[in-house]
Amino acid sequence: MKILVLNCGSSSIKYQLFDMTSSEVLAKGIVEKVALKGSFLKHERSDGEKVILEGEILDHQTGIEYVLGVLTSEKYGSLKSLNEIDAVGHRVVHGAEKFNSSVLITNEVIEKMEECIDLAPLHNPPNLKGIYAIKNLLPQVPQAGVFDTAFHQTMPETSYMYALPYSLYTKYGIRRYGFHGTSHRYVSKKACQELGVDYFTQKIITCHLGNGASIAAIDKGKSVDTSMGLTPVEGLIMGTRCGDLDLGVLLYLMDKEELGISTTSALINKHSGMLGISGVSSDMREIEKAAAEGNKRAILSLEMYDYRVKKYIGSYIATLGGLDILIFTGGIGENSDTLRKSVCSNMEFLGIEIDEQKNKGLRGKLEVISKPSSKAKVMVVPTNEELVIAEDTLEIINNLK
Ligand code: ADP
Repeated sequence: MKILVLNCGSSSIKYQLFDMTSSEVLAKGIVEKVALKGSFLKHERSDGEKVILEGEILDHQTGIEYVLGVLTSEKYGSLKSLNEIDAVGHRVVHGAEKFNSSVLITNEVIEKMEECIDLAPLHNPPNLKGIYAIKNLLPQVPQAGVFDTAFHQTMPETSYMYALPYSLYTKYGIRRYGFHGTSHRYVSKKACQELGVDYFTQKIITCHLGNGASIAAIDKGKSVDTSMGLTPVEGLIMGTRCGDLDLGVLLYLMDKEELGISTTSALINKHSGMLGISGVSSDMREIEKAAAEGNKRAILSLEMYDYRVKKYIGSYIATLGGLDILIFTGGIGENSDTLRKSVCSNMEFLGIEIDEQKNKGLRGKLEVISKPSSKAKVMVVPTNEELVIAEDTLEIINNLK
């Protein structure tokens, strides 16, 4: 059983081909600069064979044709023919209130996905382009959609409503949806499997810290709160997004600098966060390096980043009424021991005690990093959103039989 997982962004297409009998990744890669100058495909097979193919990739369908071409190529491929692809799973960013789990893609589902575009105008259109392309190129192959928002659909009204006029919720669906649900679901379940505890009894906080970052409170297997909102801007400080902000700041700036919608959007999405504070980079490794060299703004940005994560953990422990497992994941959560140490410092009174020896130098590996005496288990769990998409897709197509 072979499943192709696609994550189509505005100018990129990430892909992984899974053999589901062993959950092995047969090949993976990325098409970059779709519809831009200098587009290319970077492909890697499981045996390490790599290739970069340059070409004029003017749209997502052409990009996916390149992907299918390299997957079946004699020299770099992993498949004899495209008939070996049993299903395609897509990452879809926004499912609004229409989707609370992964689904088989039908014409009716596509229509509903199109209705969600309004809420994620930057993300959903490229996701849909990938779906249309597969419909054209592999019309017989079933497709599944796996939504970033679906896992958080269990949040109660008290967490997801904004204190705005209620009519804006009924009219436009203005509420908090949350993102990274696939990752929060995967790492929380994985941690319970690893610890041998029942997922449906645990109070868990998952910190997904990558370029985008969000934190979730999970009670007995259900997401009950998360830091991202209607859009991915809310919550933690991110690479280039500001996270929580007094809305008055925006009103002030829009007035003072006569900012329009697109400039304001660029300000909070692209020029803020770690990049905006440090002035160094949005990349955590570069910021940590600059901080180690004494760059004051880099140091400040790291302190602010850690403080915001800590503040959310504290509030979620209050919300959950306790904590059994605290999980770090995402490029930063999995790799930065200094971040984990700083976030978990002085949290003993909340049952969090990390073992410095276990934490130090730990990168990208599943491990418990708390002391045996710690009431809550603290863990690093590498995320694997592509595998979840492949597994959900497999389950959906198995149910078709
Ligand atoms: P995305 O959200 O795009 O999937 P990732 O989860 O890959 O991003 O996370 C990217 C972030 O992880 C970057 O800020 C990068 O600097 C950070 N990162 C990767 N490796 C390390 C490391 N060894 N130490 C600190 N940060 C790291």
